[in-house]
Amino acid sequence: MFGLMQDRPLLISGIMRHVARFHGSAEIVSRGVDGSLHRMDYATLDRRSRRLARVLQGLGVQTGERVATLAWNGYRHVELYYAVSGMGAVCHTVNPRLTPDDIAYIMNDAADGLLFTDTTFAPLVAAVAPLLGGALRAVVVMCARAEMPAMALPPGIALLCYEDLMDAADEEFDWPEFDERTAASLCYTSGTTGRPKGVLYSHRSTVLHSMAVNAAAVMGLKPGDRALPIVPMFHVNAWGMVYAAMASGASLIMPGRHLDGASVANLMNSEGVTFAAGVPTVWLALLQHLRTTGERLHTVKRLGIGGSACPPAMIDAFAREYGVIIEHAWGMTECSPVGTYNTHRVMDGETEAESLSRRSKQGQALFGIDIRITDDEGGALPHDGKTSGNLQMRGNWVCSGYYGQEPGSALDAEGWFTTGDVASIDPQGQMLITDRAKDVIKSGGEWISSIELENLALLHPDVAEAAVVAAEHPKWAERPILVVVAKQGHDIDPEAVIGVLRGRVANWWLPDAVIVDSDLPHTATGKVSKLRLRQKYRGYLVERGI
Ligand code: AMP
Repeated sequence: MFGLMQDRPLLISGIMRHVARFHGSAEIVSRGVDGSLHRMDYATLDRRSRRLARVLQGLGVQTGERVATLAWNGYRHVELYYAVSGMGAVCHTVNPRLTPDDIAYIMNDAADGLLFTDTTFAPLVAAVAPLLGGALRAVVVMCARAEMPAMALPPGIALLCYEDLMDAADEEFDWPEFDERTAASLCYTSGTTGRPKGVLYSHRSTVLHSMAVNAAAVMGLKPGDRALPIVPMFHVNAWGMVYAAMASGASLIMPGRHLDGASVANLMNSEGVTFAAGVPTVWLALLQHLRTTGERLHTVKRLGIGGSACPPAMIDAFAREYGVIIEHAWGMTECSPVGTYNTHRVMDGETEAESLSRRSKQGQALFGIDIRITDDEGGALPHDGKTSGNLQMRGNWVCSGYYGQEPGSALDAEGWFTTGDVASIDPQGQMLITDRAKDVIKSGGEWISSIELENLALLHPDVAEAAVVAAEHPKWAERPILVVVAKQGHDIDPEAVIGVLRGRVANWWLPDAVIVDSDLPHTATGKVSKLRLRQKYRGYLVERGI
């Protein structure tokens, strides 16, 4: 065949190469763990990333090997994103908010050879290290020699200093070319039943996702923008913002660990942030800070919100009180993560109420993603905006099989991935999440396993049946509440049930209320009907001001 176009692989290193060559003076500004600001241009970031690739070579990192990170959003973490993937290894971002047990499970499953960590996580790493199976050969602390924390590690795991390694390396490294279907990064999700599962992104899926996210109808970043990913880099690659911002030539402002309203407002105004993205809990804290202090946002034009449903009142408040547009998005780890986006536009003839209702939906599918809703037998349901069904997706950055499992094993016979969300889609293609079929709770952007809490509650000698469901919460979007039924002839002391859970799960997992009920609703097959329980108790905390 004649006249075909060039066939260049879509590689993550291509983003770094591009930004260094054409936007080398745009910058990455990072707030360190001590609150200080660090700034560096992209030309320097490229050189340091190549130097880091040399460090990784020196530490024996092989193609395809997993290199873990436990780190905040900052420039060293970005260096790792590019150096690890760019050299052909897999950047495995680990969520530090999980328990040491879950972190050890995830790191053992991934068989991470190295772990890079911020100084803040030294106690966590010390707790996790003895639980690891033997693949890990070194922990590298992302700091200078003077900041190195003391850390006791089991024999066979070396403790190294990031800047010492960087000082000892050179920059003689050219980003290699390889197949774009090579694995680039790995992220585990706890958003399903059972143990966390890994989603392995390829270079191709990552670059396509970055390009789609940069479309004008999505985040649409461009040179001169200053983008602030509040969403952590350990949450689905900060929703792709690190790649998307750099591919567009926008500067990156990295918040580190300081995500309270005052710190975020301060960073936004002092650094001239134009776009930021995060979960509703963070924006609620910002809104409260602005309202109580009277501070204004001087440069922010748009905020991307996802991870949990954005309350319409928040969309309205940011627009009316601060002139900031909220763009509501939906996605998941299995979708890299962005699947739908509610882009800003003004529609003729719409009332204010209609406009707010439209803007509150999770948006339209990105080009590259197809979505549909089905009934429980898998039959497609109409996109009429009224019918709700199981949300399915397929596309260029959707997981095919979980890490370690067969390709295609996460899909149905027609190649659709079932999200576990329940949604309606209107004739304009606007998707609205109406419920969740998966049995989990999402609190402040983090997952809580209802099944794990139920199993622990059943350890209490007075408890016959236990069910944990999500109740709405003004700050955390959702909080778990535990509904228990007593064994015949027994009385339940709610505090004693909490006592059984305490110490066995992270404190923020503890239910906000224990409700003693006479029985639980069941489905035809005898399972507890979470749907009916959720309906019954959804407003429990809000109504009582808990
Ligand atoms: P994760 O894999 O941790 O990113 O979580 C993905 C899940 O978060 C989705 O399957 C939804 O249940 C939920 N989610 C994400 N974005 C939204 C949103 N805008 N509204 C409601 N739920 C959301």
